[in-house]
Amino acid sequence: MSSLLPLPSAPARERADACPGALQTHAAADGGLARVRVPGGTLTADQLRTLAAAARDLGNGHLELTSRGNLQLRGLPEGAEAGLGDRLAAAGLLPSATHERVRNVLASTLSGRTPGGHLDVRPWVRGFDAGLSGDPLLAGLPGRFLATLDDGRGDVAGLHGDVGLLALAPDTVALTLGGVDAGLRARPADAVALALAAARAFLAERAAQGSAAWRLAELADGPARVAARLGGPVAAGAPLPAAPVTGPVGAAGQLDGRTALLGVVPLGRLSADQADLLARLAAEVQLTPWRSVVVPDLAEDDVDDAAVELHRTGIVFDEASPWLQVTTCAGRPGCARSLADVRADATAAVTTRALPADGARQHWVGCERRCGRPQGRVVDVVATPTGYRIEED
Ligand code: SF4
Repeated sequence: MSSLLPLPSAPARERADACPGALQTHAAADGGLARVRVPGGTLTADQLRTLAAAARDLGNGHLELTSRGNLQLRGLPEGAEAGLGDRLAAAGLLPSATHERVRNVLASTLSGRTPGGHLDVRPWVRGFDAGLSGDPLLAGLPGRFLATLDDGRGDVAGLHGDVGLLALAPDTVALTLGGVDAGLRARPADAVALALAAARAFLAERAAQGSAAWRLAELADGPARVAARLGGPVAAGAPLPAAPVTGPVGAAGQLDGRTALLGVVPLGRLSADQADLLARLAAEVQLTPWRSVVVPDLAEDDVDDAAVELHRTGIVFDEASPWLQVTTCAGRPGCARSLADVRADATAAVTTRALPADGARQHWVGCERRCGRPQGRVVDVVATPTGYRIEED
């Protein structure tokens, strides 16, 4: 298995992960935090309205976009998870109470709608999610487990999924394991079954190693050993496409002649009103790992009005905007560890054009944990007791 490129050594885990879910919330300094998994980032208009109402009625009025294309509600009062769970289940956002935390699935943005991919991964998203949620064994996956389903455009394959599918050609799919090409291949119709088998093989290998690993790459020789459980490599693994540090913004022409709008949500903080507006503009939206939203299927006559309405609420379509450079962790007041209100400080730096390392992709954090750090080349802006420290790659 020398063809697999090694990743940096990973920490040995001694306990199960404590990733929050919609039912198993995290007690943050500003109240309960619920994370709602959104496989493939796809939400219908009705689901968006449900989430907006839940954020207003139960939370702090906002939805947070995560780097896995999921959503978080914050500021929940104690005991709110039962009511939230009922709302989510009624909207089809909680198909399995036992598997809700493991449904982390990133899919290529606008797959099947815009050129650039070899195939449409939307059926893979539905098939993988159904297979995952329907297998009691897979409820034992860690909440950090991530699947990436890439149609060949190379936008999510490099985001270090534990298992992943990458279309190499219309009839050939590579299995990725722990962020590397495992040298296993499948036809598109068989690809979801292979990815699900890889998830089971991860659990089997983890048990065999007596490990509590949260990620496949944390296992000793994880990609190679999981690949061997699946029959070993049949091809030389190739380097994966590098993950983009920011996603596309602006307007994209669809294969069917319609248009999609792609806009960044500053600091990933989507208000309930913005969510309602998105629900009014489209039957379905897609969330991306770059804290942006995609509004697809717009008729030519509707594109400008939709862009203006969204822009008025603060959604950014200008690829030169400094908002594309900046992400933050939660910081104060949500996180008790934080030494600063990083969102307020980053916002002030953007609005006064006083970003450190201007022009560079930067992630502001309230402490050394550096939660939510994006993949790729990023400048860290780390709060300290005496101000921010800038760390360049
Ligand atoms: S990086 Fe530190 S301050 Fe920021 S959310 Fe994580 S633990 Fe909290």
